[in-house]
Amino acid sequence: MMKLLEKAREMAMFTAYNTNVDAIVYLNGDIVQRLINEFGAESVMKRMEEFPREINEPLDFVARLVHALKTGKPMEVPLVNEELQGWFDSHFKYDVERMGGQAGIIANLLANLDFRKVIVYTPHLAKKQAEMFVDKPNLFYPLVENGKLILRHPREAYRENDPVKVNRIFEFRAGTRFKLGDETITVPYSGRFIVSARFESIRIYTRPELKPFLPEIGLQVDGAILSGYQGIRLRYSDGKDANYYLREAKKDILLLKREKDVKVHLEFASIQSRELRKKVIYNLFPLVDSVGMDEAEIAYVLNALGYSKLADRIFTYNRIEDTVLGGKIIIDEMNLEVLQIHTIYYLMYITHADNPLSEGELRQSLELATTLAAARASLGDINSPEDFRVGLKVPYNGRGEYVKLRFEEAKRRLRTREYKIVIIPTRLVEKPVSTVGLGDTISTGAFTSYLALLRMKGVL
Ligand code: AMP
Repeated sequence: MMKLLEKAREMAMFTAYNTNVDAIVYLNGDIVQRLINEFGAESVMKRMEEFPREINEPLDFVARLVHALKTGKPMEVPLVNEELQGWFDSHFKYDVERMGGQAGIIANLLANLDFRKVIVYTPHLAKKQAEMFVDKPNLFYPLVENGKLILRHPREAYRENDPVKVNRIFEFRAGTRFKLGDETITVPYSGRFIVSARFESIRIYTRPELKPFLPEIGLQVDGAILSGYQGIRLRYSDGKDANYYLREAKKDILLLKREKDVKVHLEFASIQSRELRKKVIYNLFPLVDSVGMDEAEIAYVLNALGYSKLADRIFTYNRIEDTVLGGKIIIDEMNLEVLQIHTIYYLMYITHADNPLSEGELRQSLELATTLAAARASLGDINSPEDFRVGLKVPYNGRGEYVKLRFEEAKRRLRTREYKIVIIPTRLVEKPVSTVGLGDTISTGAFTSYLALLRMKGVL
């Protein structure tokens, strides 16, 4: 397994587009009480009843926060009013600030694993965002200077006036108490309330000056991991819309592949709007080689493709047989080279039968992925290739045998001759230090080791 990681680390990778700063506040009863007192319990309760879907003013935030605390349910509410950032920054001291966004998380992970070269592109790179990148000599941001492509460390490439996307994360613990009018509220479960920045100024795209150099970037790397399309809005006030940004996203992929057929992995994330979800799937899946997603996301994708009954079954029962069936549908309809699905208990690859890798090799790639994720869950972060060894000590989850049994059953019942389908149980950390970015870690480990195995076979 260490050997395969070594081979994967020889790869040069490109990743884009989404990065943000996760600013974390650990809430306590006093902080919440002060907020309620500032606005008055009456007003807070009234706004809670109105249940605002977006945060336009501070009271919207307080109302949705108190609602989340009362139910103990994790929630995410978009902040649409950019001017409110000052209010948040003057009211809260952030306990931790760290890299957020899939492209940012993946870039730091690859750099810390000592990959040969990591090029990360994010359209907005303010100083604060740039500082979230790890200080590694193999990590680069592409710039255009005097008509040429130049690679610099992100910390040396920031632009003073770029906007920063800050997601504010309010972590709460079960048992936290505060008063809302006459009522004493005790938070029933631990969780988090996320205020996600959805500003007009933050876009998912490649700046026009860099676009002509995408073929050159493609030539310099062995693979690309693209993500962040969930951040596209359906419409913008300047008249641009999701169709515009997806047309540009398609061009980006074709440009990356123009000089060399560089393999592209798209990391899918939940998209609430079915309209946008459909657009991302129909526009981009047919252009990429590999897609990664979790179990909820495969249900969302199937729903968007019109298989709503199958999607509902996956949501409700989480049966392996349905996931296999859904996976077959997706790789056939979108003609993907490989689909990777990660769930809490197992990881799965589905490819067509003519995939150059054997089932054994595909399983090795998944083994590397779950080991890397287990290392990250144990340590909270991966700082060097040596950290990978920690994952090797994490046991497989208790349902491993059950998973294999159900999978064999599914294979007997479904037509699978035209495919290669492999599954492995996950290594599951009982008390993870952090679960942030684990899905991205699995996909990064899976895709880069897939590429390494292709290269070892001489087909890349
Ligand atoms: P996502 O839903 O995309 O964030 O991916 C989460 C994935 O991380 C799950 O499907 C699991 O495979 C993995 N995972 C979650 N919790 C743990 C844990 N405690 N230890 C190891 N892997 C985990």
